[in-house]
Amino acid sequence: MNIFDIKQNNRKKIYFYIRKNNLATRQEIAYNLQLSLPTVTQNLEYLVKQGLINSNCKVSNNSGGRNPVAYSYVADAKVAIGLDITKHHIKSIIIDLDGNVVKYIYKRQDYRRDDEYLKILGETVEKIIESVQLDNKKILGVGIAMPGLINQEEGYVVDGRVIDNTGMSCKDFSKYIPHPTKLIHDSNASGFSEIWMSSEIHDAFYISLCNSVGGSVLLNDNVYMGDGLYSGEVGHLNLIPNGEPCYCGQKGCFDAYCNAERLAGYTGYDLDLFFHRLGQGDEKLQKVWDEYLDYLTVAVNDIRMLFGCTVILGGYVGAYMKDYMDVLYKKVDAKSPFGEDTSSYLIPCKNKIESVATGAALHFVEEFFRKLC
Ligand SMILES: [Zn+2]
Repeated sequence: MNIFDIKQNNRKKIYFYIRKNNLATRQEIAYNLQLSLPTVTQNLEYLVKQGLINSNCKVSNNSGGRNPVAYSYVADAKVAIGLDITKHHIKSIIIDLDGNVVKYIYKRQDYRRDDEYLKILGETVEKIIESVQLDNKKILGVGIAMPGLINQEEGYVVDGRVIDNTGMSCKDFSKYIPHPTKLIHDSNASGFSEIWMSSEIHDAFYISLCNSVGGSVLLNDNVYMGDGLYSGEVGHLNLIPNGEPCYCGQKGCFDAYCNAERLAGYTGYDLDLFFHRLGQGDEKLQKVWDEYLDYLTVAVNDIRMLFGCTVILGGYVGAYMKDYMDVLYKKVDAKSPFGEDTSSYLIPCKNKIESVATGAALHFVEEFFRKLC
């Protein structure tokens, strides 16, 4: 580690100490981080100048002396924008450095592979920025999440059969977005947002039950990318040899049995209505749901055997799972080869509708923390 690294490291330590404690004095920081007072002072001045922390007067001081200056964390010193693109909608979100939602906008908009659609994307970003009169200098970047196999390093869609985006690049999608951008695979975005919000979980497998089924391997609070393309692509785990056709061209994939449309298709592609009628005791839907859970049980069991970690049920269907976990636990318990208690590792997602957009935005928050100062 050279002098520059040490200096940068100290600055990060101080910044994260204040972030964690929210309010801290110079003396506290120096004592707890084992740094000299001049080092702490110099860094605090820098961080205040950058607008990343504020200096306030501490309210209570029992010693009777001068009130020591306390420093507080500024969560909205920077913000990031996330877009969630699907076949029928664009969701946009602004989050601050704590992951708090500053603004969320849902727009019903069919995806189209043309310039008009790219303009709409640009307008969507512009609109959400204007809606909160955001200072452009605060914007870290725009994470753009979508279905498809994405080469994140090179920034293009390798296989995009779900919404016809194969071959499109980050440059294409950001043609009308004048900010730094990044393409992110939708399941990786939602999986990441889930683990980011769960301080008690560091490793997990996230199953995304959307109109296509995906997944994300989360290791040490990060997305495990494997060689870059297929990590977590559980939608194409073969559940039934020679089973029902999948959009990938194979037969019997997990996706073909557990995508959200498989349920919504019974209620005019309205998933909310499906669960509403299910809740009212509709017998036909009860049977459909029971069968769905049987297939999900096989996948959950396979994933648990592969990774042995927490398994999170997310995506559109995951958002409704809370009320049905006991039924699912019984089904998975019955298939467990080691008599394991399923409720000890299988959980429904915390984030609901905005998780993909949030995860896409979080990419820029994490990058900011990594490169801090
Ligand atoms: Zn498939």
